[in-house]
Amino acid sequence: MKIGCPKEIKPQEFRVGMTPNAVAEAVAHGHSVVVETHAGAGAGFADADYVAAGATILGTAEEVFAQAEMIVKVKEPQPVERARLREGQVLFTYLHLAPDPEQTHDLLKSGVTAIAYETVTDDRGGLPLLAPMSEVAGRLAPQVGAWTLQKANGGRGVLLGGVPGVAPAKVLVIGGGVVGTHAAKVAAGMGADVTVLDRSIPRLRYLDDVFGGTFKNGYASAGNTIELARQADLIIGAVLVPGAAAPKLISRAQLSELKSGAALVDVAIDQGGCFETSHATTHQDPIYTVDGILHYCVANMPGAVARTSTQALGNATMPFMLALADKGWKRACAEDKHLLAGLNVHAGKLTYAAVGQALGLPV
Ligand code: NAD
Repeated sequence: MKIGCPKEIKPQEFRVGMTPNAVAEAVAHGHSVVVETHAGAGAGFADADYVAAGATILGTAEEVFAQAEMIVKVKEPQPVERARLREGQVLFTYLHLAPDPEQTHDLLKSGVTAIAYETVTDDRGGLPLLAPMSEVAGRLAPQVGAWTLQKANGGRGVLLGGVPGVAPAKVLVIGGGVVGTHAAKVAAGMGADVTVLDRSIPRLRYLDDVFGGTFKNGYASAGNTIELARQADLIIGAVLVPGAAAPKLISRAQLSELKSGAALVDVAIDQGGCFETSHATTHQDPIYTVDGILHYCVANMPGAVARTSTQALGNATMPFMLALADKGWKRACAEDKHLLAGLNVHAGKLTYAAVGQALGLPV
C-alpha cells in the first residue's frame, strides 16, 4: 500500500502523523510511504530522517493526498484537506466528529473511509490512542503548574519540592485516571505533598495499592474537595465523565477560600473545564487570574512537547497503521473489533452510533 503523511496545517500543531521509525516499519512490511516536505520539522524530524527510513519526500500536500491510498495524520482534516480526500482512500487520524457537523458532512461527501484514533478501543475498556496524550498532559501538568506558581507569573512564589527546612508545596489532583495518575507521579517525584481525589472506589483501591507510599488518595466528595483545595498551592483538574461536559468542582465563590496566588491547572478544559472560572487558553497566552487565583487552561497541552507527543502517539498508532496497510481496512477491521470501533465514516455513510446521535444523522 502507498501511505501518505502530510504536514499538519491546523494552527499551533507541531506534531506529525508518522515518525521516521513508523515509516521504517511500514517499509519493512513492503509498503511505500510518501511524506510532505518539512512534515516532521515541528517535532524535530528532518526530511533526511524520513528518506533514511525509506520514505519519498513530496513537495506539496496535494501530491501526498493524490498519491496515497491511506493518509496518516494527527489532527482532524481541515477544509482544504477534506476537499482532497476521495472514495476508496483511508484516513487514519483524530477526528472528534460529534461536535463538528461541517467536518462530518465533508467526510461523508468525500466517500473516504475514516478511522478515528479517539474511538479505537482496547481489551481493558480503555482508549489506547487517546491514552498517550493523557499521559503527556498529565506529566506536563505539574511542570506548568510549578512555572505558574512562580512570582513573575503572579503565583504564590512556592517551590513544589520545598528545600531542607522548608515544607514542600501541597498539590491536589482531582480525578485519578490516566492524566491524574501521571500528574500525581510527577508532582510527587518533584518532591511535592500530593493528594489525588476520585469518585471511583475501584480506582482509589488501585491508586492505594500501587502508589500508596508515593501520594495520598481520597474520595472526591464536595466536602473533601474544598477542604483540600483550601490547603493547596497547586490544584490539577483531571476528571472525565465519558460523553459529558466536565463537572464544575470549584465554583467562583469558592476561589475566595483558596490561598492567594494558588494555581489551577485545568487539564479537563477540552471537556469544558472542571473549575467554574476556567476558559480555554493557548500556549502563547496560557495563564490568567480570577480573584487572585491563577488559571492555566491550555486545551492542547501535548502540543507544547510536540516531539515527545509525536513519538508517544506514533508508538500507539503503529500496530493499527501496519494492520490497515498489511490487510486493507476491511480485513483489518473484521479481524480486530477494537480497530473496527474506530471506523466512523465509510463511503458516504456514518458508521459510529454516538456521532450519529450527537448530530442527528442516520448510522
Ligand atoms: P480517565 O477516564 O482516565 O480519568 C478520569 C477520572 O476522573 C476517572 O478516574 C474518573 O473516575 C474520575 N472522575 C470522574 N468524575 C469525577 C469527579 N466528579 N470527581 C473526581 N473524579 C472524577 O480520563 P483522562 O484520560 O485522565 O482524561 C482526563 C481529562 O483530561 C479529560 O477531560 C481529557 O479530555 C483531558 N485531556 C486534556 C488534554 C489537554 O491538552 N488539555 C490532554 C489529554 C487529556
